[in-house]
Amino acid sequence: MSSIPAPLSLVNVTLEYPDGSGTTTALDRVSLTARAGQLVALVGPSGSGKSSLLAVAATLVRPTRGQVIIDGTDTAALKDRELTALRRGKVGIIFQQPNLLPSLTAVEQLIISEHLRGKPAKAARTRAAELLEVVGLSASARKLPHQLSGGQRQRVNIARALMGSPKVLLVDEPTAALDHERSASIIALLRQVTTEFGVATVMVTHDTEFVPLTDAVATMRDGRLTAPVLAGA
Ligand code: ADP
Repeated sequence: MSSIPAPLSLVNVTLEYPDGSGTTTALDRVSLTARAGQLVALVGPSGSGKSSLLAVAATLVRPTRGQVIIDGTDTAALKDRELTALRRGKVGIIFQQPNLLPSLTAVEQLIISEHLRGKPAKAARTRAAELLEVVGLSASARKLPHQLSGGQRQRVNIARALMGSPKVLLVDEPTAALDHERSASIIALLRQVTTEFGVATVMVTHDTEFVPLTDAVATMRDGRLTAPVLAGA
């Protein structure tokens, strides 16, 4: 066994939102570990805390209690600026809707994300071309978002999230806007890149049909993670 830390570890995480005079407990002592190359599906009914878990894992929201450890760093100890730097460097986030910039081509969507990270343009162009090939979009590199299908836009979104070579990939209902065939190919792509790039991926999905492509399933209910993560965790 290696002593390399898991890219993502939540330990006894509780998240409370103020709610009138009391609080709503969105996450109740949730613990979850995702290892390099592991694809974890997160399922559960609406309101059970899935989005809250992703937001906390993404370090976009600080938990009320408990630890969020990214690539061995306990994020509680970090100042906001350090947290932002850690997130940019280590975490890729894929939302339901790709949110691509309408006036930029596919390849430009990827390059600008590296530009915002302050990375050199030449290296960004090389990496963008490689990633567009990985997601099967080399031939569409110069297309604008409106010239791409919904599935192709989600592929650009996935490639963009991988530009910064993240250790952790957090994915929120990536197939919500897609038909069945495109959904299957997007999940297969997420499986492929998780393995190929050795990222720890946590994916919220309502499509239990795709569970066989994942390594583990975690089920949320009323803010608790009711099923333990499966084999190898
Ligand atoms: P899911 O993603 O599974 O639908 P959420 O994480 O969105 O669940 O919500 C979990 C609980 O936290 C729900 O009771 C929801 O109403 C509450 N909640 C989520 N976000 C907020 C917020 N910003 N302010 C107050 N309560 C919230």
